[in-house]
Amino acid sequence: MTERRRSHWGWGWADRFPPEEGLRAIGGHVQSTLGFAPSTLRRPMDLDDVVVPPPRVTPPEALWSFCTTSGRDRLLHTYGRAWRDQVRGFLGDFGNAPDCVAHPKSENDLVELLAWASRERVAVVPYGGGTSVVGGVEHPRTSRFRGTVSVDMSHFDRVAEVDPVSRAARIEAGTLGPRIEETLARDGFTLRHYPQSFEFSTFGGWVATRAGGHFATVYTHIDDLIESVRMVTPAGLFETRRFPASGAGPSPERLVQGSEGALGIITEAWARIRPRPRWRATATVHFADFERAVDAVRIIAQSHLYPTNCRLLDPVEASLNGVCFDGSSVLIVAFESADVPVEHLLRFTLNIAADQGGKLPREPIYRDTEAGGDPTAGAWKAAFIDAPYLQSALIGLGVMVDTFETACTWSRFARVHAAIRHDVTEALTEVCGGGRLSCRFTHVYPDGPAPYYTFIAPVRPGSELSQWAEIKAAASEALFNRGATITHHHAVGRTHRPWYDRERPMLFGQALAAVKRTLDPAGVMNPGVLLDDVAAP
Ligand SMILES: Cc1cc2nc3c(=O)[nH]c(=O)nc-3n(C[C@H](O)[C@H](O)[C@H](O)COP(=O)(O)OP(=O)(O)OC[C@H]3O[C@@H](n4cnc5c(N)ncnc54)[C@H](O)[C@@H]3O)c2cc1C
Repeated sequence: MTERRRSHWGWGWADRFPPEEGLRAIGGHVQSTLGFAPSTLRRPMDLDDVVVPPPRVTPPEALWSFCTTSGRDRLLHTYGRAWRDQVRGFLGDFGNAPDCVAHPKSENDLVELLAWASRERVAVVPYGGGTSVVGGVEHPRTSRFRGTVSVDMSHFDRVAEVDPVSRAARIEAGTLGPRIEETLARDGFTLRHYPQSFEFSTFGGWVATRAGGHFATVYTHIDDLIESVRMVTPAGLFETRRFPASGAGPSPERLVQGSEGALGIITEAWARIRPRPRWRATATVHFADFERAVDAVRIIAQSHLYPTNCRLLDPVEASLNGVCFDGSSVLIVAFESADVPVEHLLRFTLNIAADQGGKLPREPIYRDTEAGGDPTAGAWKAAFIDAPYLQSALIGLGVMVDTFETACTWSRFARVHAAIRHDVTEALTEVCGGGRLSCRFTHVYPDGPAPYYTFIAPVRPGSELSQWAEIKAAASEALFNRGATITHHHAVGRTHRPWYDRERPMLFGQALAAVKRTLDPAGVMNPGVLLDDVAAP
């Protein structure tokens, strides 16, 4: 039996890229739903035809047991899964492959690897699942480094310990989402952190990027689930103690969360877990007016009801995802609990929605089992899981689909949204001759939403990367200028650096650089991510 292979350039499994007739069918669908014809029908460069440059550095013999310079392995660690990564991979451009890939099996391997890299000026890029969409796992090419090494954490792949009394688990950094859930399920627990990239991203990657999961309120980021962390840095081990909470000064785990591989390599963390939910209540509400739907979501977010799911889709998003085609905005709202029925919470919420003109297209669904859900929520979920595969397939048709996300206060949302719609639509028209922009709320807080935008446009083969860069810059400028963050959960990486630098307080940037110089004196850890290339004098 042949092993199922991950795509070397696109999202997920290689066998999910459609054959030629499938691509043609998608092209027809694009034309009928989006109104523009695909400009091309291309297939990705075959893996066997890709050429990677020879390695510039070779690790010493002492590291050979877990390091490789094989072209195939280096190629597979060249990119994350941003749209621009996929385009470069599709075209067979792997000129920036790492010189070496390490597959450490222990913290001691990491200690030795980081010592060699620091001594020999080799940049170190930690690699979890490689699903970064912000250039987080790309390799810097500056003359300061003799080469680069990608550190693949896939051998750190266990739920190592469960503390059922405190409801916490010690999880190794390279463990993929499904494995975490399968293991915890044996004891009736769940981490319930489901980013859209769940299948292929790792626990360590989530912590390093402060990933956002499926909870729309309260436990939105992985940060809220982390009790303590352990990280190997070039300067030594950084380990925090397990506490449910602590008021002892600035939080050391918070320094590690969001560090994006620039301070060290996270090897494991204790995370808060919970019993698997038993009671669920789900409903879909339609609004004729987007502004009133936004008001409803704001009131719900401020009501202390804390729905598990509270996704508002604008009319474009609702129709592109096959949820509703009559121009309505759609709110999908759900509650769940392992301990008590949740019907009453949904009823309160639906009363708020009704006050703002929300209509129920069908009865809510109440369940007392793991199974089931509202059929519309099901359609949305299926579209949500398949969307990344479609994004990859559309590259072959010369269609760009990418997303950007943010958060802002409720009082600013209308201005932010209007600026995004204006500036990005204008950029799409100028740069691509047209396109579509949709919006949904992925997470909501009492003081503001986290809007998530998708843009779709035709691109010219050969200039797609510069076209993408113009749209991305227009979106990022609009966010920054209207007081919205450059990212709510996709992280900073290399792509968001210019706007992150302007968003953070100047003194914070300097303090972070000082921390980096302490933990990483040679400045080899993921240079260019979060900070400019900094080394201690
Ligand atoms: C289709 C798709 C859907 C996505 N959906 C979501 C979503 O719903 N929510 C969300 O938050 N994000 C999402 N993302 C972005 C991405 O999945 C997250 O940033 C995720 O947390 C990255 O995990 P990873 O294991 O793939 O990390 P990688 O991509 O391998 O690495 C990400 C960053 O973390 C660093 N890193 C990785 N592991 C470690 C470690 N052990 N120690 C130190 N640094 C490390 C890397 O150097 C890099 O800077 C999505 C991406 C795609 C392609």
